[in-house]
This record gives sequence, C-alpha cells and structure tokens, in this order.
Amino acid sequence: MEDNKINKNDNEKPGKPSNFIREIIDRDLEQGKNNSRVHTRFPPEPNGWLHIGHAKSICLNYGLAQDYNGKFNLRFDDTNPLKEESSYVESIIKDVEWLGAKWEDRLFYASDYFEQLYEWAIKLIKEGKAYVDDLNAEEIREYRGTLTEPGKNSPFRDRSIEENLKLFEKMKNGDFPDGSKVLRAKIDMASGNINLRDPVMYRIKHAAHHRTGDKWCVYPSYDWAHGQSDSIEGITHSICTLEFEDHRPLYDWFLDQLEVHHPRQIEFARLNLNYTIMSKRKLLQLVQEKYVSGWDDPRMPTISGLRRRGYSPESIREFCERIGVAKRESVVDIALLEHTLREDLNKRAVRMMAVLRPLKVVIENYPEDKVEEFEAVNNPEDESAGTRTIVFTREIYIERDDFLEDPPRKFFRLAPGREVRLKHAYFITCNEAVKNDAGEITELRCSYDPESRGGSTPDGRRVKGTLHWVSAEHAVDAEVRLFDRLFDKEDPTEGGDFLKNINPDSLEILTGCKVEPGLKDAKSGEYYQFLRQGYFVADSEDSTPDHPVFNRSVGLRDTWARIQQKGAK
Ligand code: ATP
Ligand code: MG
Repeated sequence: MEDNKINKNDNEKPGKPSNFIREIIDRDLEQGKNNSRVHTRFPPEPNGWLHIGHAKSICLNYGLAQDYNGKFNLRFDDTNPLKEESSYVESIIKDVEWLGAKWEDRLFYASDYFEQLYEWAIKLIKEGKAYVDDLNAEEIREYRGTLTEPGKNSPFRDRSIEENLKLFEKMKNGDFPDGSKVLRAKIDMASGNINLRDPVMYRIKHAAHHRTGDKWCVYPSYDWAHGQSDSIEGITHSICTLEFEDHRPLYDWFLDQLEVHHPRQIEFARLNLNYTIMSKRKLLQLVQEKYVSGWDDPRMPTISGLRRRGYSPESIREFCERIGVAKRESVVDIALLEHTLREDLNKRAVRMMAVLRPLKVVIENYPEDKVEEFEAVNNPEDESAGTRTIVFTREIYIERDDFLEDPPRKFFRLAPGREVRLKHAYFITCNEAVKNDAGEITELRCSYDPESRGGSTPDGRRVKGTLHWVSAEHAVDAEVRLFDRLFDKEDPTEGGDFLKNINPDSLEILTGCKVEPGLKDAKSGEYYQFLRQGYFVADSEDSTPDHPVFNRSVGLRDTWARIQQKGAK
C-alpha cells in the first residue's frame, strides 16, 4: 500500500505546482508591492546542526527566490549567547552550501544589528512604547495571565520616559545582574493574544557572544530581533513555521511603530517525518549522551548525517519539492525520502560488485593461474558512465546467503547440483559444499562452463539466478556499515521518553567484506550501487585506501525478502 502511495505521487508530479505561498507572492506582485521584488531568507539559530526539516525551509525560501528572480539571504539568528557557538555556524554554512542554496554576498547575522536594535528600542521608550520592568521571570509569567484570563499591569509599567531611558542605559552598561530587569514593549496586558501582553524585548545576560564578545550584556528577544532584521535586509516575504502564527501581530506591531520597511510574515506547516526526531534539543541529547557518534552520524536526520549516509543534495531537494508546502500539520512517511534517494541514485550510481558476507568458491575446472578480464557496464541507466574491467579467477567469493544446502522451492541461487550465472562472467554449477569439523560450510567446489562466457550458452539453456562475486585474489577488504531506523516507533516520542524507543539494532558493522579493487580509493560524494545490496558511499570520516569503509545509504527492494516474509505469515 505504501508503494502505491509513492507511485501515485510520482505520476502526479507536476512541473512547479502553485501553493498558498506562491499565491500570496503573486498577489503582492500584481499589486506592485515591494517594487515587485521578492527577497527571502533562511534564519537558523546557531544552536545545533541543521536537519531535514531545515532543508525544507531552505529549499522553500531559496526556491522562491530563484523562481521569482529574487534574492535569498542566509542570516544567523544569533541572539542567545548562552546556547550558540561558532562551530554551529560553520556546520550550517557548509550544509546550506552543500544543499545548493546560494546567498551570494548576503550572509548576515542578527548580531550585526544589535546597535540598530538598541537605537530602535530607545526610540520606542521615548515614544512611551517600551519600559524597564523589575519583575523577575517568574513574576512576569504570573502577571501575564492565561488564555482565558487577562494579564495584570506590572507595578513598573508607568515609569517615566526619563527613568526608563536611564535604567535601560544602565542595563546596557552592565550595572545590573542577570535577570534583575528586562525591557518590555508597552502594548496591552489584556490582549486576547498573549504575545501582545507587553512582550520582553531585552534580557540581561552577562555572557560572551560568539561574534560580539563582551560588547553587550543585554540581548534582544527573538520577537524583537527577527522582524527588524528582516526589515533591515529588505526581506519581502518572511516565511516561518506555524508556531509563529500567533507572533505575527507582534511582528507587525513592532514594524508599524518603527514605520520601517514591513515584510510579510507567512507561516507554513513544518516537516515531520515518521521514525524521526527533529527537535534540536533531543538531537543534542543523542549526541551528548553518545547514543550516536556525533551530529553527523549517518543515522541522524541532520543534513550532515544524511550527507555522510550517502544522500545527494539533488535527492533532498527533490524530496522537499514533492512534499510541498501546506498550512496543515502532517507526518511524511520516511519511505518517501528513501524512495527519492533510490530514484536519484539509480540514475547516477556506478554499479560495483561487493560481497558483504563472503563464502569462497573454487572453480575446479578453471586453470590455477588464469586471470580473465571482462568488461562491465558502470551504469545501465547512463551510457556516459562507461565501462570498467573486472577480473575472473579460479577462486572467487560469493555471498554466503546465496548458497543453501537444502533450498526451498523459490530459491533460485546456488545449491548442490544447481547452476547459476555469475554476473558479467560464466555459468557455474555447484558440485560440493566443503565443511569444517563444526559442520559449517567453509567453501564451495564448483565447475564452470567455458561456453557460457558473457552469460549465455550455445545450447540456450537458462538459469534463473545471477549472483555477484569478486575474484578472491584481487578483491579488497572493506568494512561495511548497515543502518536501520534509529527509532523503532513511528512516533519516537510515544510513551513519553524518546530514548526508550531507540532501536538497539540500528547499526550493524560488517568487517572482512570483499569488494572490487576499484573501490579502494572511493571517496565520499561518489555514489555506488553494490549489485543486489543497495546504494553505498565511502564514509567521509573513517574510510581510507588502507581501510575502506562504506555506508549503506539505502537498500534495494529485495524480492526474496518479500517472499520470505509472505511465506512466514
Ligand atoms: P529552535 O527550537 O531552536 O528554534 P528550530 O528547528 O526552529 O529550533 P531554527 O534555527 O530556529 O531552529 O530554524 C531555522 C528555520 O528553519 C526557521 O525558519 C524554522 O521555522 C525552520 N524550521 C525548523 N524546523 C523545521 C521543520 N521541521 N520543517 C520546516 N521548517 C523548519
Ligand atoms: Mg526556531
């Protein structure tokens, strides 16, 4: 059923479907707003690494800028020195670049605007629209009221403008300890929208900022910084996720009071994926508590994790295109992400043979020292990928589970007396399975048909199975990492504690795998299909020519596994 859903999606894939955001932009352009400019931005907070949800936002914002011949900014929303680090900035820049979004010379930081924001705050104070409050965080919360009850005015709300100016300056100069005072906008403590109940504009934090150092000890809130940063940059459409819908009246209020360029905030539903955690806080916990090897662990939904796993930027962009944008929350099936990857890699991946769990085969009637060369197509989907030479010898490896002593009816691979095709080479027939004292099969003795070179025979007899293999003498040893979902629940937060839903078998490491010699120097970013095993990429961190390490990006669909599953039911 899942497959049907995906295929249906395939057929429906239109060029560039319209959506509610495009409709808004079209209308704004028709009305000549913003001098017919479109200018978007992606505003990450550098407090974690980007994930696939951020990719959606990047592709959306950059895609709109491209389609409307507009501009796209990358802006760090770096207003909280306590959680932010420049290492996050670096990883984010790398990821956005890798995804292919181009900000040209427009890389900005909200911290670049601290001076301007400070001046604007003074302007609001002078107009009686902002005040210094001595209530602490808890009192502010109490005074704020609830969804059903209005808030109460702070006893400090009616301070004179002079006093506010003096106190705010002292706040800035570092005369007060953290948390002792805040600057608040003076709006309406009885507003039906809690965000308008005198929101905090500045907090005191005696903390060094990754860019401004010790220059500031008052830091702007998200609400105070965000819209004004958009305005300074001339953003026309400020696209954000739905949780900011209730903040929009405040976004508008600040810009209206300042009478500056006024972008339009538009909200869309964030991407949720089943079996996947997207909260930065939880992802950080997975890293800090070492459930994964780092932010770029190939099982992480981070862009760096997906890259290391072997996702191409094209596949992620295509995925973001297919899921579209909507106003309503939904959960996307991770199978769609995997499907998009398979589809992309099918077109570009170089086919190789790699034996993950080797079983030696000795071809008894093949001369001991003979080495034969075969030409193999690199990618049947792409002629320009060319061919390569593979070598055939008397001893080869095949996949251990491609042999069964006592095969069931629908098993078309090797078994005693059975004949199969070796991909690109000859037909072989199994004569005998050699066992050790423990009864384990240690090697197969086979014979080949010299007439079957290239994969067919003069008498036209057919075989059902085709196996991949490598020459024992020429193959290179490799480590292969197979991944499964990091969480075994569709909703990883089910039951309250996401750590309890971690899949204990999400990583399987195979060593002593035997791969074609050409894979020795494989580099991350080169995409391979190991025949019958799936798509693989060299691990960007751990792979070396002396010790190649491959990550399985995604498997191929295995009809045998399906038959087995059906049989088991
Ligand atoms: P935080 O809780 O730290 O704010 P965040 O995921 O919202 O986490 P930001 O750095 O603020 O992180 O996000 C940058 C941009 O990416 C924002 O515009 C945000 O709306 C968008 N974004 C974040 N998560 C998703 C998601 N799952 N789907 C689509 N867009 C997202
Ligand atoms: Mg956010």
